[in-house]
Amino acid sequence: MPIAVVRHTYLGSGNSPVTCHSKNKKDAHMTIDDAHAPVKKKLHINHEHEDYCIVCRGKYEGEAICCSLCPRVFHPQCVGAPESAVNSDEIMQCLQHECHECEKDAEAAGGKLFRCRTCAAAWCQECLALDTEWSAVGNSIPEFKLLGYSKKRDASFIVCGYCKEVFTKDPGYLHSWKVYWEHVKEQLKTRKS
Ligand SMILES: [Zn+2]
Ligand SMILES: [Zn+2]
Ligand SMILES: [Zn+2]
Ligand SMILES: [Zn+2]
Repeated sequence: MPIAVVRHTYLGSGNSPVTCHSKNKKDAHMTIDDAHAPVKKKLHINHEHEDYCIVCRGKYEGEAICCSLCPRVFHPQCVGAPESAVNSDEIMQCLQHECHECEKDAEAAGGKLFRCRTCAAAWCQECLALDTEWSAVGNSIPEFKLLGYSKKRDASFIVCGYCKEVFTKDPGYLHSWKVYWEHVKEQLKTRKS
């Protein structure tokens, strides 16, 4: 089963960084769906992880789960996963590897999912068409680049209609993202020079 059940949860912004267990998972088995036989796949994780939970943005403290497939990090309690998932040797995937509406993965969705930059959800092209408010960000985001996660064929980034609505209602929340993005830009610049 996908590890997460809670989808759009807006809890506001906070500042508690999280630590996640990033074990050497090279030889771990990938379990995507209990309904299917686990896919045995050697996975080499060569990116770092974000230091905040994408669901609560630091409202909660405590250990978190690192997505094995991307830099996202999430608390078990923020996605309805058991605490034991933190120390699990299984390969974990965050919500951004299947469509928020129809649950297709990128492959089933024609090769690409559109991942929101500012929340835990992603959409296939078909389901994204039902959201008229989203805006495109690009094929990669600087905060992921900084963590060594390069452009992927199966992902594009957007800001979803839900997040845009939250930003309108709570400009402080948008501001906290903008401060973070500026910080990332500075770090990328320093790295280049
Ligand atoms: Zn959280
Ligand atoms: Zn992920
Ligand atoms: Zn879909
Ligand atoms: Zn969003």
